[in-house]
Amino acid sequence: MPAARRREMPEARPSSRVLVTGGAGFIGSHLCARLLERGDEVVVLDDLSTGKRENLAEIDAANLSFVEGSVLDTELVDELVAASDRVFHLAAAVGVRLILDEPVRTLETNVEGTRAVLGAAARHGVRALFASSSEVYGRSDELPFQEDAAVVLGATSEPRWSYACSKAFGEWLAFAHARADGLDVRIVRFFNIVGQRQRGRYGMVLPNFVRQALADEPITVFGDGQQTRCFLHVGDAVDAVVRLSEEPRARGRVFNVGATREVAIGDLAALVRSELGSASPIVRMPYREAYGMSITDLPRRVPDVARLHACIGFTPRVSLEAAIHDVAEYEQSPRVTRRSGR
Ligand code: UDP
Repeated sequence: MPAARRREMPEARPSSRVLVTGGAGFIGSHLCARLLERGDEVVVLDDLSTGKRENLAEIDAANLSFVEGSVLDTELVDELVAASDRVFHLAAAVGVRLILDEPVRTLETNVEGTRAVLGAAARHGVRALFASSSEVYGRSDELPFQEDAAVVLGATSEPRWSYACSKAFGEWLAFAHARADGLDVRIVRFFNIVGQRQRGRYGMVLPNFVRQALADEPITVFGDGQQTRCFLHVGDAVDAVVRLSEEPRARGRVFNVGATREVAIGDLAALVRSELGSASPIVRMPYREAYGMSITDLPRRVPDVARLHACIGFTPRVSLEAAIHDVAEYEQSPRVTRRSGR
């Protein structure tokens, strides 16, 4: 691992140095852009497994350093965390398809990586924010999902729930460090975040639908299309994350970060088609065909955002329609058209 590592790190150690693990990923790259805009010095640690160096190309700046390496490299993580004032831990194996395809890597990266990052943050007294997921609620049907509600996971023989379990473990570890070592940690559970640089190849619905609509190809709705989700634009999501990282009342707490407009996936397909003026037919695809195995899908996923609102007064600014056009603009950009391996 160390041999493959590429270092471009500045020597200076200013007061606002922020480490973002997974910073070359979809949400991570938007977070880095926001932190840079605010004048922070940002160091990214990313192994480029699902993240892309090009995600950072548009925001490349003197204050951005990139370290290619893994959160499983405990020595490297310790060194980078020790040199930072704050760490945002976003590095993880994400996406339903990746979890089904690479179940061992998902668990190892999420569990061991989070252990390394939070352990280092606790040792060096560095404030941490852990990116968790709405997937943690599992198959609970107590809607909307409230942060302190019980989580209800499925059978261990179903790989889908291993992701939820790995994220829940990270949350427990964060709370444990807060109690045992006084770690200043904040946890966010992301609910279906969408926007530019998200990739459909890992199973995410909006980039898939937009790409299909732009090509006038069939829009593939998995299952009966009645299942619902709430979509939050990544710009709103990183706003919430940065504000939570600075709000003293957020310390030691977990927050849902999501929108509350509930949309059925079948309706999302129709909305994408009409917003983009596409001639695509909308087709249904059984889960077994879509994922190569039958999976338990969640019939509804809706966040309770009362805690988030009470703590930082957050309300989303970007509509779903605007998010669709934002994703379409990205999908039509030359960078995406040239990209291989989609
Ligand atoms: N989905 C779909 N077509 C696609 C990709 C996903 O109908 O091309 C469905 C998927 O089965 C799920 C919803 O869209 O019901 C959201 O999927 P995604 O993977 O984006 O997020 P999830 O909420 O499942 O984590």
